[in-house]
Amino acid sequence: MALQPAVPVRRWSAPPALTASFGLHALAAGTLAIAPETWPWALGGIVLNHVGLTAAGLWPRSRLLGPNITRLPAGAVGRRQFALTLDDGPDPDVTPRVLDLLDAHGVRATFFCIARRAQQAPALLREIVARGHDVQNHSHAHRHTFSLSGPAALRREIERAQDVLGELSGQRPHCFRAPAGLRNPFLDPVLHRLGLHLVSWTRRGFDTVAADPQRVLERLTRNMAAGDIVLLHDGHAQRAASGQAVVLEVLPKLLAHCASLGLQAITLRAAVPARSAEVVQ
Ligand SMILES: [Zn+2]
Repeated sequence: MALQPAVPVRRWSAPPALTASFGLHALAAGTLAIAPETWPWALGGIVLNHVGLTAAGLWPRSRLLGPNITRLPAGAVGRRQFALTLDDGPDPDVTPRVLDLLDAHGVRATFFCIARRAQQAPALLREIVARGHDVQNHSHAHRHTFSLSGPAALRREIERAQDVLGELSGQRPHCFRAPAGLRNPFLDPVLHRLGLHLVSWTRRGFDTVAADPQRVLERLTRNMAAGDIVLLHDGHAQRAASGQAVVLEVLPKLLAHCASLGLQAITLRAAVPARSAEVVQ
């Protein structure tokens, strides 16, 4: 499906938390120049500031470090739509079975794929798109050190995934989800420059660690509502007692619950307008 028209974006502007941080640094420098004996206070302020920024990066749904989509836009809410997102695939064992379950329920989902895994299973990536689903960017290698990277390394990692996923799937991603949802203040300007939205989620099942499908289902369905972005995993999937990937046991019940609420699934490509790529100034 084609993307909706791009939202015009001029230039990157620092989110309020970063603007405040820059201001604090300037204030500390100015105070030290006038009254050097105040250095413990200046240093303490800077340390606290960095602790705060780090904490914001460890909170996946935070908007302190820049725009972050945690729910679908108002139009989709009005149409009683929700988005099912599946991370960390494609997985040669689990993803084909997820695709069959989605077909059986007439549901279209968004797959946040790890590009390196897509390179190992290119036919499976094409199958995802051929069956009407959406492929988005979940980094190239899904490194646990992603949020410790500087701007150049972040850009290389994300751009490489853009190229691989765009070439293999025929659809260039317009959304990015950080590995484990962790990030740092350098990520927003990089995403802005590449024309990518940061997308996290409204609710997640923790299905890479939880082995009880019922608990995962309860986490996802509690107070579920139109506009929700739901996160499950077709890659790195935990196994239930049955030996089956947890996602395969959760999905049929989750989709039946959504249908009972009158909620209709929509992909991010259909629900979220493009973020136009602009040069950072
Ligand atoms: Zn992931």
